[in-house]
Amino acid sequence: MKKPDVLIVGAGIAGPALAYWLSRNGYRPTVVEHARQLRSGGSAIVVKGPAIPVAERMGILPQLRELATRNRSLTLLDPHGRRILQLPLTSQKNPTIEVTRADLSRVLHQSAHTGAEFLFDDTITALEQDEGGVDVTFRRSAPRRFDLVVGADGMHSAVRRLVFGPERQYARPTGLYGATVPLEPGAVEDPSQMTMLTAPDRMLVLHPSRTTPLAIFTFRAAHPAPHDRKNTALHKQTVADAYAGLRWRAPELVTAFLDHPAPFFDPLTTLRMPTWSRGRIVLLGDAAAATALLGDGSSMAMAGAHALAEQLAARPGDHTRAFTAYESRLRREVGPRQRRVGPLSRLLLPRTRTGLAIRNAAARTINRTIARTNPTTTRQTATR
Ligand SMILES: Cc1cc2nc3c(=O)[nH]c(=O)nc-3n(C[C@H](O)[C@H](O)[C@H](O)COP(=O)(O)OP(=O)(O)OC[C@H]3O[C@@H](n4cnc5c(N)ncnc54)[C@H](O)[C@@H]3O)c2cc1C
Repeated sequence: MKKPDVLIVGAGIAGPALAYWLSRNGYRPTVVEHARQLRSGGSAIVVKGPAIPVAERMGILPQLRELATRNRSLTLLDPHGRRILQLPLTSQKNPTIEVTRADLSRVLHQSAHTGAEFLFDDTITALEQDEGGVDVTFRRSAPRRFDLVVGADGMHSAVRRLVFGPERQYARPTGLYGATVPLEPGAVEDPSQMTMLTAPDRMLVLHPSRTTPLAIFTFRAAHPAPHDRKNTALHKQTVADAYAGLRWRAPELVTAFLDHPAPFFDPLTTLRMPTWSRGRIVLLGDAAAATALLGDGSSMAMAGAHALAEQLAARPGDHTRAFTAYESRLRREVGPRQRRVGPLSRLLLPRTRTGLAIRNAAARTINRTIARTNPTTTRQTATR
């Protein structure tokens, strides 16, 4: 049976991962990405949980280990910049690999590019489906008909908007914002140490990353501005206002954010949709179910790509059942993670000094217990 023609929209993490698995199963998918090349922004992300066996089966684990950041511990600081405690970040029991988002995207693209057609600097403008296929109109390429379309175009998915309606129907804002900016190579002295200062409603992380250290801002804005993704001046003002008066290295890191031409800024939002597919069109990765704050997005995207390709291969000619089986499998992973976001945001970013003191006391106790019960067991704290 001829393999279906599949269009994947988005070449972030989910898109190239799905392209790899489809091509392994004999398909030749097309991937359209609106950026001119793979996007390089973002901070380090953690490959963990169900993404580890997926990476292993893709044969990319050794490469990811080589690209891993050297970040080994997290130092917590109080609002004045005084050290509270240090937590180790590696674990034998639950292996995780921290790499930059750009490195992960590049490795996945390298694995996928020979088996797929990649169209950069282009995007979809319309999707019209009938019983036999989906007619796709592109901004630059000629219109084409595909058997199936996968929206792997991230949090602000155009596929989701065209097929399911506006993002606001499905977005569940956490009330938090995330922003990052790359720093000069010398900005972090010790490449094995991540430092996190927490004050009520604000957190500032100095992350060594691999080659380019990062400042990561996570905060509740006092007066949340109506969000405009393209308004960099507004993002800069929001960060400057949120971190005004904070000590330690905050003034210098805020200045780096203000001086950067296009720093990363987004409200931290989870996305909850009643269903991830309609007819021949299905959503994957953040487009289907973003999990803000946990640092799980990339791992969920990789696990989802593998599950979707596997279900399509297991049910040739029956995309409806394949989409349903993929969705129910992934919801078992994503659902509990999304439910943890609320409690975790309160734990990570207490609203008051008392809340912060309680959080820090709890962290000290946990740290002492871990050290006592098993000196080699360690814990991972994700910031997003
Ligand atoms: C530049 C960037 C920086 C990020 N930084 C962080 C970070 O610091 N920490 C973190 O935890 N997560 C970050 N993320 C999100 C993280 O990558 C995702 O949570 C996770 O990897 C899920 O991957 P995804 O492939 O579903 O979505 P994404 O990684 O967001 O990839 C989506 C891709 O689709 C493309 N795209 C979007 N719209 C269209 C369109 N209309 N047509 C064609 N292509 C389109 C985007 O350019 C992108 O390449 C970032 C994402 C991006 C794009």
